[in-house]
Amino acid sequence: MDPVLVVGAGPVGLAAAAFLAHAGTPVRIIDANAAPTTLSKALVLWRHSLLTLAPLIPPSYWHSIASPVQGACFADKGALFAQLGFHHAPPSGATQRPSSATASSVGAAAAGKDGQATAAASAQQQCGSVHALPAGMLVVQADVETALVALLQDRYGIEVQRNTSLTAFTVADDSSSVLCTVTDTSSSSTATTNQQQQPQELRASYLVGCDGGRSAVRKLLGVEFAGTTLDQRWLLGDFKYEVDAAINAAHKPQHKCEGSLQPGTLFMNPTDVGLMGLIPLGNRDGQLRVVWNADAHCPGEPTIEDFQQLLTAHTRQQIRLTEPVWLSEFKINERQVQSYVHHNGRVLLAGDAAHIHSPAGGLGMNTGLQDAANLAWKLSLVAAGEAAAGSKLMDTYQEERHPVGAHVIRMSGRLLRANALRSPFVRFVRKWVLRALVAVPSLAAKMVSALTGDEICYSRCTLAAAAAAAAAGGAAVRTRQPATAAERQVWGCCKPGAAFPDVSIEVGGVEQSAAVLLLSKPGCLGTLVLMPVAQKQQQQQQADAAAEGGCTAGQQHAAWPSCWGHWPLNVVHVSSAAGSAAGGAESTAAAGAGGGAESTAAAGAAGGGADVAVDAWGLLVAAVAGRAGVGVLVRPDGIVAAVGGPDEVNGWLKKHVVSSSDAAACS
Ligand SMILES: Cc1cc2nc3c(=O)[nH]c(=O)nc-3n(C[C@H](O)[C@H](O)[C@H](O)COP(=O)(O)OP(=O)(O)OC[C@H]3O[C@@H](n4cnc5c(N)ncnc54)[C@H](O)[C@@H]3O)c2cc1C
Repeated sequence: MDPVLVVGAGPVGLAAAAFLAHAGTPVRIIDANAAPTTLSKALVLWRHSLLTLAPLIPPSYWHSIASPVQGACFADKGALFAQLGFHHAPPSGATQRPSSATASSVGAAAAGKDGQATAAASAQQQCGSVHALPAGMLVVQADVETALVALLQDRYGIEVQRNTSLTAFTVADDSSSVLCTVTDTSSSSTATTNQQQQPQELRASYLVGCDGGRSAVRKLLGVEFAGTTLDQRWLLGDFKYEVDAAINAAHKPQHKCEGSLQPGTLFMNPTDVGLMGLIPLGNRDGQLRVVWNADAHCPGEPTIEDFQQLLTAHTRQQIRLTEPVWLSEFKINERQVQSYVHHNGRVLLAGDAAHIHSPAGGLGMNTGLQDAANLAWKLSLVAAGEAAAGSKLMDTYQEERHPVGAHVIRMSGRLLRANALRSPFVRFVRKWVLRALVAVPSLAAKMVSALTGDEICYSRCTLAAAAAAAAAGGAAVRTRQPATAAERQVWGCCKPGAAFPDVSIEVGGVEQSAAVLLLSKPGCLGTLVLMPVAQKQQQQQQADAAAEGGCTAGQQHAAWPSCWGHWPLNVVHVSSAAGSAAGGAESTAAAGAGGGAESTAAAGAAGGGADVAVDAWGLLVAAVAGRAGVGVLVRPDGIVAAVGGPDEVNGWLKKHVVSSSDAAACS
């Protein structure tokens, strides 16, 4: 098979190539630039993106190189008037396992024993986190790209072909391939390179345009990038800085955020000369980003002096900018193509090539990374002839991701306009509205989740709709009701089309996000998470089996699938706290499943040996609405495909993936 050609080695192209390579799909990635940039437009990876990348990169990696986003401070003329906290779980390992007594009571709840007493006991326990991933990590774009380049090289043996620009392409008449023309863009003009600068032709099975806002692929397709360019002038400066009490000594900071920036905290400050945002760069210690809607207030090339004057005159910050790292100016576009899928799925667009918007909210790179993961597993299936819907599977990429792009454009536009208002009256109203909003926890949480991507859900889309109905009518037994506030919060959230819940689980004796379960070996596609079987349920299964002629529970469970088409599934067993407290003797839903490609993903992520993933706080079972013993089939982009018994899980696979068949069932 000709390789898939990914054009552009920005974050989106690199992620698309990595997800394709993970599935074993031949892929080639080119970029017009000679080297990756060390300058970073994007500064944050939000929670949904951490989960999306989890099959390839464990969340602990981001913790090792960056720190979580802590919150946002809103000021007016330098005076702080509201603060929004982005609550996050402590770093992995900092939270101890619940006491064994507590663990037993959680286990008893899972087993459906002594409901009321258990509920009372559970209510007192340490609840774990409904989000064990932080709201976001302050990882700069260059570091995301570095991680993905290393992954491509080290794990999949793929090098980015640099100095190579796509200049033309033609889709074959029978739509079976794409003939691409690329040009060497290296600047050297020796005889040898002159030779190389002749256009070359590459045959690709599919073409994926991840080549940014000025996308050549999009232009060559001739499609409109509909939208507007805002009539605003924005300046950007990344600086090294130091705190200097002599600056703004006349001001008396009323809050620590007013005087010196707090790690992980964004500082938004509308001024008479335009909105200004200050962001300490997470994993670039001692660096600060200043963005400023300067319009006519700073004509000409921006300098460090312009920014220093801005900080001194319009904030109470006691900050001395010592050295510019990057000075730039930019215009804001709000645009989106009508279709991400062209030529029956032969040519696809993702990331800034497909949608572009204001940086407010820090969503561009995040949205593009999610596009890449969504696109890649579907393309791997289509390219391998494993998609039951054939190339039409790519239409679900459009169906799922186009509305997310449109929503992000609307939301970041609103955020920008709300913050950039200059009229003193409107700023006064905005101040009080914002103050009221952040004071109401549910509204504050809503504001945070709009950024983190927690609201992204495809439950009404084609791939989820039937599975949702099957899950609702499935045979799984509900063994309990929610007992704690945390359980109530996540109750039933693990459903087809939603993101796999990143609730707290315990691996190797430490609290981790359930996202670690998704980390899979190269060559695996998708994850099957098998929930603990409640004791009552297990006894019932054994009794039923005995009545039906001696089939054991283990044999019954052999009906779980072990493959996603021709790819091995990453099968992960979760045990309940009761089982682990009893020395791991309790069975999981998969106990006895024969021949599966069971990975030690959780163990690997914990850095341990054969560690067991334990639903120590009962939150995973709560996420499947208390239905112990079910399996959760998770797509390679971290989205739940199906929840239920073997029938529901096999049903989804057989419906969408050609060579899926039931594993050996008890007969
Ligand atoms: C000031 C600013 C701040 C931002 N902050 C954030 C933030 O905090 N969080 C966030 O998520 N997003 C943020 N963004 C947006 C984010 O930077 C972009 O959404 C992201 O870079 C898009 O990634 P991409 O891979 O689609 O495109 P790019 O990063 O633009 O990469 C495209 C690549 O394609 C290559 N290329 C182009 N044409 C060709 C060709 N013909 N042939 C071969 N290669 C080609 C280019 O060399 C480039 O390497 C910000 C943007 C700006 C301007």
